[in-house]
Amino acid sequence: MFFNLKLYLAAAAQLFRVPTDPDLTRAQFDAFSKQIPLLYFILITNSVAVAYTYVPLAPVWLSVIVPALLVSVAGFRTFWWLRQRHVVRSDADILRNLRLTNRIAAPISAGFAVWAFSLYPYGDAFAKSHVAFYMAVTVIGCIFSLMHLRSAALIVTLVVDVPYVLFFFATGEPTLEAMAVNNLLVTGAMVTVLVIYYRDFADLVSSRKSLIAQQEATQALSDENFRLANLDSLTELPNRRRFFAELSSAFADAERRSVRLAVGIIDLDGFKPINDNYGHSVGDRVLIEAGRRIRDVCEGFAANRVAFARLGGDEFGLVVCGDPADQDLLELGQRIGERVKLPYQIDTAHTALSCSIGFAVFPESATDAEALYECADYSLYHAKRHMRGRTVIFSSELEAEIRSRGVIENLLRTSDFATEMHLVFQPIVDAMSERTSGFEVLSRWNSPRLGLVSPADFIPAAERIGLIRPLTQALLVRALAAAKTWPDDIRVSFNLSAHDVCASDGILPLIAIINASGLSPRRIDFEITETAVTFDFTRAQQSIAALKAMGCGISLDDFGTGYSSLSHVHRLPLDKIKVDRSFVADVNENPVSHKIIKSLTGLCADMEMACVVEGVETRAQLDSLRRLGCDYIQGYYFAKPMPESTIADYLAAEAKRLGEGAQRAKIPA
Ligand code: C2E
Ligand code: CA
Ligand code: CA
Repeated sequence: MFFNLKLYLAAAAQLFRVPTDPDLTRAQFDAFSKQIPLLYFILITNSVAVAYTYVPLAPVWLSVIVPALLVSVAGFRTFWWLRQRHVVRSDADILRNLRLTNRIAAPISAGFAVWAFSLYPYGDAFAKSHVAFYMAVTVIGCIFSLMHLRSAALIVTLVVDVPYVLFFFATGEPTLEAMAVNNLLVTGAMVTVLVIYYRDFADLVSSRKSLIAQQEATQALSDENFRLANLDSLTELPNRRRFFAELSSAFADAERRSVRLAVGIIDLDGFKPINDNYGHSVGDRVLIEAGRRIRDVCEGFAANRVAFARLGGDEFGLVVCGDPADQDLLELGQRIGERVKLPYQIDTAHTALSCSIGFAVFPESATDAEALYECADYSLYHAKRHMRGRTVIFSSELEAEIRSRGVIENLLRTSDFATEMHLVFQPIVDAMSERTSGFEVLSRWNSPRLGLVSPADFIPAAERIGLIRPLTQALLVRALAAAKTWPDDIRVSFNLSAHDVCASDGILPLIAIINASGLSPRRIDFEITETAVTFDFTRAQQSIAALKAMGCGISLDDFGTGYSSLSHVHRLPLDKIKVDRSFVADVNENPVSHKIIKSLTGLCADMEMACVVEGVETRAQLDSLRRLGCDYIQGYYFAKPMPESTIADYLAAEAKRLGEGAQRAKIPA
């Protein structure tokens, strides 16, 4: 029982205290600061009216001085509250101010109540009723205005109403007694409304609070989803999706501000062998490390803001904002290249990488983001093919090249091999005897639209559009048919592309053509480039073994270009090495070219391979090459590639020159 009473008392005391929940007090403070000036307005106007009634009746100090003091306190508080509307306050500040309001509610209301009671004895019946009216109306007004601060409203009610009822009952005046009872009932009803309203208000604040918390949780979850959807799971760098989002917004911005914007694509050189030799887990860690290094360079690049992402595989993308100059891009590319090149030590594996970068710049290269990316991709392709490990910026020359590539590809697709393609033959001559030992077959395309197109252009185009294998097969049939008409000791040398050598169904179609030709495979050489071999070494090895098994010879073409790896020479059953013509041009002027050819002829001799040198144009070159020990010579010095119809005459003339007229005379015309 006693315990219950204590609980009730504690609960009742709670009613008169300011709550501590910061969200509730803040909401109270906001609502309150708007209403409190009204409260003081009610208080001041009511008090002035009463004072006015009593000026002729009561002494000046009571009818003028005291109310003037009370009204100035009220005025000061009004002014203070009006100023609160524009002040940003901390939670603690708000709580302190509400508590202060709570504390001064009692003395202020007591001050006005005591003043009113003191006037009462001086009044006549009307004036006395005015006091009763004044106090009742003012309390109701106060309860109303203090709705949001329940504690203060209850304090004011208690401080004014309890003495009010007691005082007016004590007068014994029936009218005033009725007013006291009336006031008691109305205030009771008002307090009930207040309690209900205040509870709803507190609930509203707390439900708003939980709604906000819920919204925040949902937002956090969707932020996290967004982050994950835009992150590459291996490197934790922004992913392809993020890259294209970044590109499109940066593009719109650059377009709006009419400034330059660059897109860069980075491709790691030499990553595939790392994966093949050390396994995927080392490969993954090398990728993570390379990504981290590139990101560091981008973040530390002061000249421009650089967004960086992994596009997939060993490809990364850059968006360079802030009006970058070409010089900035080249510098960024160089810094990235230098960092990527530093050695990688993963577990016991020591590896090295480099990277090629292609850039394209808005507005010079393209007018939309997608085309800009494609231009960057083309620059990268160009870098990988011709400038490995370097940075290439898309230019008008590259653009012209793309155009002509597109045209060549389209016309090649619809070309008729039988009528548009033909073959020419270039002699391969024995360096010592100067006798033709065979002919290399070179293809020519006479396009009705483009005229003569170089094989250096249409062979790669045929590779890109997947036409190279039917083309090779058609040409091989014709080349072998031609060779069959030559003397038995003349060989034919035929170029194969990487796609022929590395096709999944092997070189079976070519074997079938050789068998059907009726020409001895021992008279055929196939020329294969190093690039074809590096494309897929295992497949290339199988194809070469199959051709060797038939009796064909294999020549490694264009040796010395690309990234020559002597291991290919060791691991493949080669018969000849064809030294690229770039070493021949200056063999008499440049000691380096001289030395390279010398060491190559030495290598061929050691490995029992023949050494063929291409592109010999002068007698002086021929003499030097003979001294250096080259076995065969090919080049304009002896003959340019010639049509099939002139071969008989050419060989006859050669035989005559060499005094072997009788020998070569049996060539069919
Ligand atoms: P390649 O196999 O290195 O052929 C040698 C190229 O050098 C030929 O150019 C030839 O005309 C040229 N050449 C020969 N002697 C000299 C010389 O003394 N000086 C100079 N400046 N050039 C000389 P072509 O015919 O334009 O062929 C270019 C390349 O196209 C060939 O290089 C070869 O890789 C490829 N190719 C040509 N025909 C075929 C083919 O039927 N199939 C395949 N897969 N590739 C072919
Ligand atoms: Ca060749
Ligand atoms: Ca060659």
